[in-house]
Amino acid sequence: MRDLNRLELAGEAVRAALEALTCADPDWVAQSVDVTSWSRRYGPRVDNWRLPTSRTKQQKLAVDFARDGFALLGAVYHPSSPVWLRELPAVQVLRCVLVQNYTRTTRGAREVVKRREKTDEGGDGRPPGHLRLSSPYDTDTRWSAKRDMLWNGYKLHISETCTPAPEAARTHPNLITNVATTHSTLPDSKALDTVHHALQQRGLLPDEHYLDSGYATAELIHGSIKTYGIALVTPVLLDTSRQAKAQAGFAATDFTIDWDAEKATCPAGHTSATWNPVVSEGIPKTVVTFAALDCIPCPLKPQCTTAKKNRRQLSFHPRQMTEALRHARTQQKTKDWNTDYALRAGIEGTIRQATAITGTRRTRYRGLAKTHLEHIYSAVALNLIRLNAWWNDRPWTAPAPATSPDSSTPSPHNHNGQQDRCACRKPHPGRSRCTSVFVEDTAEAIVSAYVEAG
Ligand code: SF4
Repeated sequence: MRDLNRLELAGEAVRAALEALTCADPDWVAQSVDVTSWSRRYGPRVDNWRLPTSRTKQQKLAVDFARDGFALLGAVYHPSSPVWLRELPAVQVLRCVLVQNYTRTTRGAREVVKRREKTDEGGDGRPPGHLRLSSPYDTDTRWSAKRDMLWNGYKLHISETCTPAPEAARTHPNLITNVATTHSTLPDSKALDTVHHALQQRGLLPDEHYLDSGYATAELIHGSIKTYGIALVTPVLLDTSRQAKAQAGFAATDFTIDWDAEKATCPAGHTSATWNPVVSEGIPKTVVTFAALDCIPCPLKPQCTTAKKNRRQLSFHPRQMTEALRHARTQQKTKDWNTDYALRAGIEGTIRQATAITGTRRTRYRGLAKTHLEHIYSAVALNLIRLNAWWNDRPWTAPAPATSPDSSTPSPHNHNGQQDRCACRKPHPGRSRCTSVFVEDTAEAIVSAYVEAG
């Protein structure tokens, strides 16, 4: 499936609806639209013809697409039209694309159609990215970005066994134990529970789970032990307070907490004045404040706070989470922890195998469910390859790059990325590790490659 910008998406949504209506009821289309003029604009794919480069002309064309879309929907929803036409998926997608990208108001007798823009740019606001359709042909795919990577599609999380044992001492090869396909906009930390649940269903939960910092949160570090008995081995984000980032002044870890007495003690020896439980973004926290009477005359104040209210305030997760977080931060500074954590690095080979052998980076299908099925087949294929090499005592060698569009090759859209990696280890029956990979929604490119190759 081709990537579409907002202008192309609007035009292609009208075109897709028109095509679906034409297939469903050509007579109705002939009676309801001016076929000659509409076929000139919506005959070829919108991204096949040269779109205007001037911003003014682009805006005008975008509004023209919207007006055509609203006109088409008006005809579909006319009382004289067959009701079942409204149920066509392409018609509903067109409705959604128009609502998400345009506003339609009336001023007197005049109808005003405007493109939605961000509110901070003076516009009417746009829907959040996880809701915004990016294609009329696949309503599950989403645009997503991470740092300098931008892609349209899904995210794949692969779990596999792993072991720190030397090659000769291994009893089995590393095998993929789970694949989880999610929307591209879903943060890795939100996908982890799904991964653990699936592993639990198969009795494959590891004792330790190695992850990168994208997966780690205080809630997960604590919750994974509590719910699944899994210790997460992951570099947690360091204290993000101004003092900790600048490595100057007192960070939250410099304060002693007495959870039972609900008091915190600062480096100057003063105890907190207030201890308030709050809920921030759905997460329970405790906000602790020191008295201005203590802070204003304090000689350590320049190292502690620059708050206008002249008093230091701290925010803590609940007790178990804070203690788990502090323990993890302490651990990750040790040499032993870093040596152990190096086990996760082997996941790079899995990424290479998944993308080079099975072309995982680019989905061949439309929709999350089918894409997930493809990922399962890919995992099975990789396991069979590994087992074949293991049973026949052959070293596994990487094949030449696939003839189909290779995910390891950056696309023109700079979709080059693999992202977060994690690894999980289990002493028995096996050890495992996992990774997440960006998956582009480019089924059409795959099909084209096969057609070209004959
Ligand atoms: S500024 Fe306030 S909280 Fe900070 S060390 Fe001094 S008394 Fe304690």
